[in-house]
Amino acid sequence: MESTSFILEKAYCPVCGQDISKPWKRYKISRRKSNALLQGLLDTELQFVQCQKCLHHYMDPAPSENSLQHYYGSNYFSNDASANHNSVLKLTLADRFFYSCCRPQPPKKASRVLEIGPGNGKHLLWLEKKGHHVQGLDYGDYPKVTGGESLNIQVGNIASWDFPDHSFDFICCYWVLEHVKDTRLFLTKIFKWLKPGGSFVFGVPNVECPDAKFFGSYWHHAVIPDHISQFSMPSAEYMLTDHGFKVTHKKYDLLSFDTQLSIWDWCMGNWGINTPLQSSFFKLLSLPFAPIKSALGWSGLITLVGEKPVE
Ligand SMILES: [Zn+2]
Repeated sequence: MESTSFILEKAYCPVCGQDISKPWKRYKISRRKSNALLQGLLDTELQFVQCQKCLHHYMDPAPSENSLQHYYGSNYFSNDASANHNSVLKLTLADRFFYSCCRPQPPKKASRVLEIGPGNGKHLLWLEKKGHHVQGLDYGDYPKVTGGESLNIQVGNIASWDFPDHSFDFICCYWVLEHVKDTRLFLTKIFKWLKPGGSFVFGVPNVECPDAKFFGSYWHHAVIPDHISQFSMPSAEYMLTDHGFKVTHKKYDLLSFDTQLSIWDWCMGNWGINTPLQSSFFKLLSLPFAPIKSALGWSGLITLVGEKPVE
């Protein structure tokens, strides 16, 4: 039954919509193995293909929309101890430094901002505290937490989300598009909702980084079966330009911590051992290598900005 299992169905390229692909890799489920919906798939290798038109990598067959809705509504974050959800929402000094220095900013004071998939809500709260008029959209249930009561976050699915044309100066989403099946509908809506001259910012994992190739299913950003779409810089740029955006900025993120977090995933997945590699100490140790990885395009995360042209 749809409500108790994960249904896989034929998929088309989420970026260009075509069905011109070659088999690429097979992954095993690596996260949330206790989720009831995934029990029938734990021994299955899920097929990923590479689109021969836009070079995007995606799962085919992929979960049905109904399966995804059940999955993201079924205590998604409470099954992931590392997600740090459902706790008190409080911005730390590190959060404020990271958002100020590492994330593209809205264009002016009191911008109208939409964040899709605000996760633990910290970035949206930070934008609100900077004086912007913020709105959030999320896929599954979004529990109100202490400290985040003021945030206006609508829940639903991509098909049901709607705003008038030209509603926002700035739309952002981080670590969301790799979960999305109907990426083309998602981008079409964002383009309509933005004012001319407005910006769309998104961050996604970089499937072309060496850690992705080396660690396979245990690459920290593989997250099987959640990440049904795996972007590279070329496929991410293709997606923006194909929907009418002008790419104004792109970067291989400085902070992605892939290597130690992938080793952590590997130890947890194979031996059930929770190593301290997620700690701030090990993150700090890796910082001297971060600029080198970024300059070489080896970072596990990429961020792009697309501008809606002024007509
Ligand atoms: Zn494609």
